[in-house]
Amino acid sequence: MKQSQSFIPTLKEIPADAESISHQLLLRGGFIRQNAAGVYSYLPLGYKVIKKIEAIIREEMDRAGAQELLMPAMQPAELWHESGRWDVYGPELMRLKDRHGRFFALGATGEELITSLVRDTLNTYKKLPVTLYQIQTKYRDEKRPRFGLLRGREFIMKDAYSFHATQESLDEAYEAMFQAYCRVFDRCGLKYRAVLADSGAMGGRDTHEFQALAEIGEDTIAYSDRSDYAANLEMAPVVEENVVKAETSLPPEQKEGKVDVGSEQLIKAEWFKTRTETVLVFLRAEDEVNDVKVKNIVGSDLIEPLEAGQGANPFRPEHGVRVLADKGIKSLARCALYSETEDKTYIHLDPERDLAIESFSDLRFIKEGDPSPDGKGRIKFAKGIEVGQVFKLGTKYSEAMSALFLDAQGKNKPLIMGCYGIGISRTLSAICEQYHDEDGLIWPAALAPFDVHLITVNPKDNDQLVLSGKIYQELQKKGYDVLWDDRKERPGVKFAESDLIGCPIQIIAGKKASENVVEIAERRNKERNEISADKIEQVVSGFLGERG
Ligand code: ATP
Ligand code: MG
Repeated sequence: MKQSQSFIPTLKEIPADAESISHQLLLRGGFIRQNAAGVYSYLPLGYKVIKKIEAIIREEMDRAGAQELLMPAMQPAELWHESGRWDVYGPELMRLKDRHGRFFALGATGEELITSLVRDTLNTYKKLPVTLYQIQTKYRDEKRPRFGLLRGREFIMKDAYSFHATQESLDEAYEAMFQAYCRVFDRCGLKYRAVLADSGAMGGRDTHEFQALAEIGEDTIAYSDRSDYAANLEMAPVVEENVVKAETSLPPEQKEGKVDVGSEQLIKAEWFKTRTETVLVFLRAEDEVNDVKVKNIVGSDLIEPLEAGQGANPFRPEHGVRVLADKGIKSLARCALYSETEDKTYIHLDPERDLAIESFSDLRFIKEGDPSPDGKGRIKFAKGIEVGQVFKLGTKYSEAMSALFLDAQGKNKPLIMGCYGIGISRTLSAICEQYHDEDGLIWPAALAPFDVHLITVNPKDNDQLVLSGKIYQELQKKGYDVLWDDRKERPGVKFAESDLIGCPIQIIAGKKASENVVEIAERRNKERNEISADKIEQVVSGFLGERG
């Protein structure tokens, strides 16, 4: 592509409202433009990268035995009523009404649609298992669309769904998809971790998230410094270190005000409410209650903290209050609890002896330095961007929507399902978060919009123009995609824009063109070397590999 004829509207200034590096560089490099909050156009450069990510995904999905289809973005509301999600999905679901007064949802995800399709067309175990996928625009009216493509309101997702007669068959497909996801993200050059995640509102069991490592990520990953253990912060179980409990002898005592007993010995009481009951949790003062763990213990889908002061006296909880404790305080024999309402500190407390605790269990967030749950190494934290998720759905949707099949015994059973998503536009941004320097983007070879950026320093110089034209032709003949900066711009502008756009290889045809010599550099280190133009193909294929 000749740059003089291209549509690459670069920006010199950093756009004021772009907070993340990926958002800034994608706007400045002319890859995307915003049309509304969280709604973007992919310009030619950006769309080229999107198509490369999609091609990798298609190859790996097909290889894993999935078949591509395309379902509408506009989904009849009736299906969402059937699954029950019309009411529970909340304001994120974009809803619209047609001229006949019928309601539709713009697809936030595709479980309802695919379940209805399969229900109406597949009804025997003989045709199972089957895995279907699509690459389709998704809509979510996010409360805070931000960081450009990282959290959009309209975005591109690959969503896949598998249907099975048995749990074992689902387990196999899940494993195959897990491996396919690893290959997709490896091929994209992404630095990521596959982490155990919480199944949350999706109502299933096993699930892993694929987290791209990046400072700007909204998720915290707890990983081991000595093994490949990694989990979402909220999911990581805490393994308490073995501490032998000291003998308890002293009776509890009350002291006026706040008494300093050292953080190791201080515990706290936190109050919560579920839809039906009040829950009191005791834990070390330095720890934090993990509400997901509390939810799982009390078997509630909702838990909210009570405002400070709303809880009663932790020593005499009212009848019906469930009193739980983090197992980390079980080994404490002489701890202290400060009561704000009374402005008193209770000391010499033995939680087992003095507090009406129903059970001790793992209720806190893991911390950096804690032992890794797999017994190898210690926990460290990293920030991640969720780029994909694989999920064992089970029969949640097939039961709600009566998607049944006949098993070998002729009995009707609900289909067992898995679902698997990749945020394609989000992956593009995650790559940019990982691959850039102060001058611009540095595309991994597999995703670069062009392989080579060929820059003619002065296109009015005939030697430079002729040599550049020759290189442009030759490289394209060998299968490389070349962006040729043939514009009559100042060299400084051209170099700066080339760095900004970030193609893996830069070739500069300048003064020595008359001697058949050019400069070549890799974008990632920008070390320029003079070479004879005859050697270009050899050097380029050394950097990028041969093209077929
Ligand atoms: P998040 O927790 O970030 O809101 P999610 O868990 O709700 O994401 P899923 O329902 O698992 O997202 O969707 C599958 C994939 O779609 C995600 O892994 C992510 O890569 C992508 N995705 C989800 N929401 C957005 C969004 N608003 N903008 C861009 N990509 C998104
Ligand atoms: Mg998710």
